[in-house]
Amino acid sequence: MAQRRVLLKMSGEALCKEGGFGIDPKIVLDLAMQVQRALSAGGLQVALVVGGGNFVRGEQIARQGIDRITGDKMGMLATIMNSLALQSALEGVGIVTRVLSAIHVNDVAEPFIHRRCLRHLEKGRVVILAGGTGHPYFSTDTTAALRAVEIGATMLYKATKVRGVYSADPVSDPEAQLYERLSFLDVLQKRLKVMDATAISLCMENKLPILVFSMKEPGNVERALNGERLGTLVE
Ligand code: UDP
Repeated sequence: MAQRRVLLKMSGEALCKEGGFGIDPKIVLDLAMQVQRALSAGGLQVALVVGGGNFVRGEQIARQGIDRITGDKMGMLATIMNSLALQSALEGVGIVTRVLSAIHVNDVAEPFIHRRCLRHLEKGRVVILAGGTGHPYFSTDTTAALRAVEIGATMLYKATKVRGVYSADPVSDPEAQLYERLSFLDVLQKRLKVMDATAISLCMENKLPILVFSMKEPGNVERALNGERLGTLVE
């Protein structure tokens, strides 16, 4: 059976209630069940990247007096905690997973080794790519773009709080329009809030399309992974 390999990125905040902190196990379990249902049809290989903003963001904490590089390391460690929560929930619904970390944490996760990651995917395991890029001053959006290109994913799914990419902030501007399709150049030139510019550039250079969709609507993660055309496609 032909296999479609994809990477799903969600922010750390996606794992807790709106405006909350930490991890809500119910949300993580729902996510795991959606991934499990999408996988059950066969033909799909899934890599996950989760942010760390539900615990720490380097830039934010730097404004409060902790140096940026330390803050970024704390943020990267937060992504490892989130990855472990996802792993536990996925394993709980019968999915074999591996957490691969860009930072060495040998007691809790394997190191990210490119060929090993590919082998896990080929064997049908869900890989959860933790620890960001392993470098400060980057984001987990950039991590997602980088890893998606490295593993040869055909789509980067970016799960967000809103339905897709809008011409303006849909919360404050009732005139804001949802785009169905955008080019990478549109995103960069109009400074649309899809992902940071580093992530967009990487996707553009490597012709990796991004589907931005809302994970607030029940079942949307499963729908997106199944190839349903939701939200905004950036290509
Ligand atoms: N981070 C980093 N390098 C990376 C990825 C992440 O330093 O390659 C740090 C950075 O401080 C960031 C934090 O980890 O603020 C959490 O990641 P991010 O803000 O992307 O999480 P999200 O907003 O998606 O939850």
